Amino acid sequence: MFEHIQAAPADPILGLNDAFRNDLNPNKINLGVGVYKDEQGATPILKSVKQAEERLLNQELTKSYLSIEGAPAYRQAVQTLLFGEDHNIITKQLAQTAHTPGGTGALRIAAEFIKKHLPEATMWVSNPTWANHQAVFQSVGLEVGSYAYYDANTKGLDFEALLASLSQVPAGDVVLFHGCCHNPTGIDPTPEQWYQLAKLCSKQGFLPLFDFAYQGFGEGIEEDAKGLRTFLEHVPEMLIANSFSKNFGLYNERVGALTIVCETAEQTEAAFTQVKRCIRTNYSNPPSHGSAIVAEILNSKELRSLWEMELKSMRTRIHEMRSLFVNTLRTKGVTQDFSFISKQRGMFSFSGLTPDQVAQLRKDFGIYIVGSGRINVAGMTHENMEPLCDAIATVLK
Ligand code: PMP
Repeated sequence: MFEHIQAAPADPILGLNDAFRNDLNPNKINLGVGVYKDEQGATPILKSVKQAEERLLNQELTKSYLSIEGAPAYRQAVQTLLFGEDHNIITKQLAQTAHTPGGTGALRIAAEFIKKHLPEATMWVSNPTWANHQAVFQSVGLEVGSYAYYDANTKGLDFEALLASLSQVPAGDVVLFHGCCHNPTGIDPTPEQWYQLAKLCSKQGFLPLFDFAYQGFGEGIEEDAKGLRTFLEHVPEMLIANSFSKNFGLYNERVGALTIVCETAEQTEAAFTQVKRCIRTNYSNPPSHGSAIVAEILNSKELRSLWEMELKSMRTRIHEMRSLFVNTLRTKGVTQDFSFISKQRGMFSFSGLTPDQVAQLRKDFGIYIVGSGRINVAGMTHENMEPLCDAIATVLK
């Protein structure tokens, strides 16, 4: 029965990690997979997370199932982070949130929900976008199209082309936006541009799906939610897939959420029962531990302020590495302008390195970068900056 099955190609990003692990070069540098690393190159457990876990260990009384949608304290905490304290979406019960296994789980449930209830809809994703988006939506049979986003000449947002693309999207289709820290480019719309996009969305009548995987990694917890909250002033319906993999460092606990917003509390309630049906036939109900940690932290004044400090220090370190990278390249005599890197936000930047240069960096220097030229800035440290920039200067010659 299985004889005819051909091997699937390696995942372009996770496959790179395996290759890095097997590389014997002692000076290897991993700027591939999207995981935060500290100055020592480690991905440590946050102190706020460890303290929350200690509390949970003492308090936990059962390992019985959670409900399909997850624990109430977690679901409430997610909404407060997304919308802000006492937002009318919360007070009027216009949103319902389900805990999902990571942001990917939220996207997959959203995809199934869309396919089932908006079967004619096309999904629109930015060009470029996170490598997994297209595959997740196609896996449920949705058509996926792309809209203009990145300008390779300016290394910035091609806002005119973006508006022109989205002006062609008909009512009833779904458009995915990166809430902040666009993956892979690191380029986000400005507040004014978010406003224009929200107005366009309202005029065209397409449904926005926000993928919000990096809240707090760009400018700050509240600032990074600006795009999503601006949209909510202009459109009555939205889907939000958020993840706590990065901002809580809870990668392997698989903790994220899918939130649906409708025009009335009754509509939200009804639509949410269908979200729960999708969950029931996938994994039935979510794993508890990661969500209990997030809820414990967000609902404790002391742990929350510790987490905010830790999040700020991750964000600040990435900003510092961006500037140091640009300056160090300059000191190595690189004449190409890399200043765009320090203007971008989040863990990623499109470096503009070609596939050949990326291949040479890997072969000659043990430096691992995704083939598209996307670099994970969080993989840079004070220690690896000099050899990294020396190598890049060499391949740019
Ligand atoms: N969306 C984007 C844009 C991402 O970058 C990621 C993680 N790389 C995800 C979703 C998925 O997050 P998770 O690991 O929580 O599934």
